[in-house]
Amino acid sequence: MGLFDKIVKDVSNEMQKAVNKAVEKEAEKKVDEAVEKAKTEYEEEISSARAEAESATKDIDAGIKEASDEWKKAADDLNSSLEEAKKAMAEADEAMSKISKEDWEKANSTLERMALDALKDKHICPKCDEAFKGEFCPKCGGKLSEKTALEMGLCPKCGKQEMPGTEFCTACGAKLPYKEFLEEVQVGKDREVLDRFRRELPQFPVWECGGSSFDLSELEEGRYIFGAWFDGDEAAAQKSVKDYQECLKRNGFVQAGKYPDDEHLYKMIDGVCYHADTEHVFEGDADSPSVYFLKGDEPPGGFDYVKPEPAKKSSKGFGSLFR
Ligand SMILES: [Zn+2]
Ligand SMILES: [Zn+2]
Repeated sequence: MGLFDKIVKDVSNEMQKAVNKAVEKEAEKKVDEAVEKAKTEYEEEISSARAEAESATKDIDAGIKEASDEWKKAADDLNSSLEEAKKAMAEADEAMSKISKEDWEKANSTLERMALDALKDKHICPKCDEAFKGEFCPKCGGKLSEKTALEMGLCPKCGKQEMPGTEFCTACGAKLPYKEFLEEVQVGKDREVLDRFRRELPQFPVWECGGSSFDLSELEEGRYIFGAWFDGDEAAAQKSVKDYQECLKRNGFVQAGKYPDDEHLYKMIDGVCYHADTEHVFEGDADSPSVYFLKGDEPPGGFDYVKPEPAKKSSKGFGSLFR
């Protein structure tokens, strides 16, 4: 290698070194800058997060304080209400202890008298079972009772005034006018039912066998049920049914069909068969017979069913030995 070459090489080496150094310095600077930047950003973030955390903590503290203040106030209110209630109860207890038995009775009898006063000029509607002023019921238009509700509670025997709606005197047991009124009303209702019986079932003799609280309903076309009530008297109820069977027979009703029996009596009128059925008469209560009336209902085998003659016995049979 020549000197020139050597110098060139040295210079080029030096240059290369210088370049390398410059590059290194530049890189160092870049890294420093980046580190500086990151540090700044990091610090900013930290400080903003700290600020947020601080503000949140403040909010929470304020919330807790507010809530606890409200709790305290509610508890105070409740306590003072309880205190007041206790005081009021104590006052009421004291007041009650001062009321004597006589005062109570006086107050009660005043109330009773007020109730009686309110009914002094009221009359009873038998249909609605309510008391009204005037002559006619404002609810149903029916005629009100002649006597007032108060008069109906006055015992005719001993003169005790009972509360309206009482049926028997609590002092002597006598029947009060109210009970008589109810019975009269019932008699009127029963009369109406029997009138309807005559109109709707003219082919059958009308029920005149006792009881009360009659009822007649048409179950379906041509099929009726009639009921009577004997108020617990089962023997009277049974007798009434026997009486009615006899009454039917006196009026031309007869046993008919394959299974003749007084529980099914029939009568043919203008080609139509009428049937009075007392087989199920006590399937309800034992003191409430109900009779079925059926139009156009023929007995099993027909109304004119005749039982066939039994076959003639052989003369050689054992029966002849005993004649
Ligand atoms: Zn009425
Ligand atoms: Zn009495």
